[in-house]
Amino acid sequence: MSADATNHNCDLLIIGSGAGALASAIFAADTGLSVLVIEKSDRYGGTSAMSGGGIWIPNNDYFKAKGGKDSHEQALAYLKAATHNRVDEKKLLAYLDYAPQMIRYLEQNSRVRYAVAEKYPDYYPDLPGALAGGRTLDPELYDTSELGDELDNLRPASATTLFMGKIAWTARHAHQVLAKTFGWRLMLLWLVLRYQLDFRWRKKRGTKRDRRAALGNSLIAALRKSMMDRNIPLLLNTDFSDFLVQDKRVVGVRVECDGEQQTIQAKHGVIVAAGGFEQNQALREKYLPKPTKVEWSATPPGQNTGAALVAAQKLGAATDLLDWAWWSPTLKVVGEQAARALFVERAFPGAIMVNHAGQRFTNESEPYLECGEAIYRDNANNDGQSIPAWVVFDSRFRFRYAMGPMMPAQIMPDSRLPKSWHKTLFFKAQTLPDLAAQINVDSSGLQTSIKRFNSFADSGTDADYQRGANVFDRYYGDSNVKPNPCLATIAKAPFYAVPIYPGDIGTKGGLLTNEHAQVMSDNGGVIEGLYAIGNSSASVMGTSYPGAGATLGPAMTFGYIAVQHLAKQLGNAVESSHDIH
Ligand code: FAD
Repeated sequence: MSADATNHNCDLLIIGSGAGALASAIFAADTGLSVLVIEKSDRYGGTSAMSGGGIWIPNNDYFKAKGGKDSHEQALAYLKAATHNRVDEKKLLAYLDYAPQMIRYLEQNSRVRYAVAEKYPDYYPDLPGALAGGRTLDPELYDTSELGDELDNLRPASATTLFMGKIAWTARHAHQVLAKTFGWRLMLLWLVLRYQLDFRWRKKRGTKRDRRAALGNSLIAALRKSMMDRNIPLLLNTDFSDFLVQDKRVVGVRVECDGEQQTIQAKHGVIVAAGGFEQNQALREKYLPKPTKVEWSATPPGQNTGAALVAAQKLGAATDLLDWAWWSPTLKVVGEQAARALFVERAFPGAIMVNHAGQRFTNESEPYLECGEAIYRDNANNDGQSIPAWVVFDSRFRFRYAMGPMMPAQIMPDSRLPKSWHKTLFFKAQTLPDLAAQINVDSSGLQTSIKRFNSFADSGTDADYQRGANVFDRYYGDSNVKPNPCLATIAKAPFYAVPIYPGDIGTKGGLLTNEHAQVMSDNGGVIEGLYAIGNSSASVMGTSYPGAGATLGPAMTFGYIAVQHLAKQLGNAVESSHDIH
């Protein structure tokens, strides 16, 4: 829809078009509210559309239907331990109460479809209440041709999330291939064949993009189509700049559309779902640990710049966790604007991470938040010399496993890698001293670390960082590697090194909200008419990342909670069962 806000006064306005925003629009429309979604860019979907689309929902129906066991009490024990009791328990309880309801509602009343990733473990398997799988839900594939022309406005999936950069696969497919479990070759062949056979559709649309969307792209496409089923308007190119306030209550927003200032009245309130501030260098420097760079972020360039955070602070909003991001090590690929998150590859057996002294400094298989934190910690301990850190591996690793955009050499040998990647994305040498010299890392330190690591690979025990000692580490291990699926020797030339940065997949701090998703004010009350969800709000997960989907799950759930709260105040209820065709 074109960016003309003037005729769109509404009951509820939602800023942003990520998963939390679009889900909230559906919940609100089903209570009978007139809803408007505004998005500053020319594409809807935000980081959510480029993401894995996983949602972490403890005690969900999908796992139970498969005979899995989970409970409210167990999940609460886990969350309390993971968040170190830093988060208001009322918010944790709200999350645990509403998350299963939220996804049940979408499953029954929208086009969103999920399946349980039964083997995807919680990220802190040693904490009380942790499960070895069953809490992360993974979107099913979605046929985007249902969107018609609205497909053109969908933010494309990140190439990282597609097989060979173009074929849609679910997280369950990807894991089947990584773990090389029974039937993985056949499954891959089927995905490729189905893609190839669909060439007519791609030709007609002039795209290489798979008609099927997976992961976050599937989630956003299904949500958008569900909005279209309800005629909920979404205005692109509509940039929020400030709130309209009357009698201390938020009653609308100021926006800029095509260079023109406009106002939109929102009778019952505004939900801020405008992401974090990771794309704003000045705010990064103000709040995040240093050094910090916009270009280390894996989120869409120029989008989430924190305008709503700053505007709400002017209204006296309280904030929390502003010095936190959803950290992830990232790498930069020449010609790509956003960095790529290195969620998995550093964890494959036979890769280690070292600092400028050539020393390992953490368990390479740990979750990405902790891995990003570890780079910062090591950098602080080493006079600011650990950024970039380096992932080092040998030719056997290179042959078998991917590293960022470099597919395994068995399908993409070095001769087929773009020349521009050499000495930017990767460095290569026949000996370790040569490699160390190229990357300016201490040579004897590197050789000593590799010798020691190789002895761990032989014995199966990482005496320094216990890599491979828990079920989460082993999730990305290679079951063919013995005795420890996360440890393999680094011995066969040539040797490789890839620079990595303490990047992010969004910031984690933002407006402080209560258990109803209402924005709190500095004086301890709430700002009437103002809700915040997703990365615009301080995460209910505190400083932790308890499981895959712990950012999108809460974004969508607190959208559900905000609408429930508003509906209760207005005497409506979220209970429609919208017809799905
Ligand atoms: P977004 O999805 O970024 O949406 C915010 C939107 O608001 C954007 O479209 C932006 O343009 C718009 N906006 C910003 N400012 C304004 C303004 N002034 N006016 C109007 N609109 C504005 N998390 C998970 O939970 N599970 C996963 O599987 C997962 N996988 C990931 C994989 C990758 C590769 C990446 C990069 C991230 C992943 N994440 C995952 C993280 C997750 O994607 C983000 O935390 C989440 O999308 C944030 O949602 P949001 O709604 O807060 O922000």
